[in-house]
Amino acid sequence: MVLQEDINLLKEKIEQADSIVVGGASGMSAASGFIFYYQEDDVFKSLAGSLAKKYNRHNMFDLFYDQRPSRGEQWALMLRTIKYVYECQTGETYIDLAKLLNGKNYYIATTNQDAQFYRVFPEERITRIQGDWRYWQCGRPCHDKIYYNKEETFKLYEKIENDALPDNLIPRCPHCGAELAPWVRSYTFLQGEFYRQEMKRYMEFLRSNAHRNTLFLELGVGMMTPMFIKEPFMNMVYQWPNAFYVTLNPQHAIIPKEIKKKSLAISDDIAITLKQLLGESTIGMKGFDAKEAFNPSRVY
Ligand SMILES: [Zn+2]
Repeated sequence: MVLQEDINLLKEKIEQADSIVVGGASGMSAASGFIFYYQEDDVFKSLAGSLAKKYNRHNMFDLFYDQRPSRGEQWALMLRTIKYVYECQTGETYIDLAKLLNGKNYYIATTNQDAQFYRVFPEERITRIQGDWRYWQCGRPCHDKIYYNKEETFKLYEKIENDALPDNLIPRCPHCGAELAPWVRSYTFLQGEFYRQEMKRYMEFLRSNAHRNTLFLELGVGMMTPMFIKEPFMNMVYQWPNAFYVTLNPQHAIIPKEIKKKSLAISDDIAITLKQLLGESTIGMKGFDAKEAFNPSRVY
């Protein structure tokens, strides 16, 4: 449970803000139970199939970045994951956040690629900094286009045999014939026109609110890629006269001393914190245990 005085302060900040900039990352999804990236849960087991045992991997992160699976096996893994992204439930943290921001002037920047924000918020108020599993790009990339992949994913999913997609079915670029790749952060991640337009929209929101009473609400942003959300948020709060910074994170609720007077850190479970903010019951909710979910030898 979060201290009531912290809840009251955050509620007051949300109510009084002229604008709210939300930064959402993996902790938001983890708090909703999407932990297969880090843990050997039932979701991971169903997505990985026999590949988990074959390559002795126990979470999606490790299996994705393993170099040993064949292309067909990697595609089977990707197709199952993308299908899951389309079909899984909407996380409760997202539903609660939408209730909390209803009627407010807000904008969301996220490093999540699981499209959960799109379940409950309008697309024009979101910028995805690291792409989105629901799109493919040329793996090279040879041209500036991303492809919505729902239909193709479901079709190819049916063709998986023995935990591999047959090589001749691997989707290829219509221009150069290279393999397509998910439009998510990688060495060949396409930051083309589509990406630039979304970044521009985000920058415009920031510029138009720089002198207003702005709340930066950071949700579950870890230390794996602090340069995308966390550090810009801290910098803007430092520079903007009327900005306030709130970080919700059970593991990394850090505040630099330079912005201490304009900040609030809540290092508790995000799902529980949101329920408390809404004045809803938290009875029976199990707090998110970072030590349980995260591998201490890895930076998230
Ligand atoms: Zn190409």
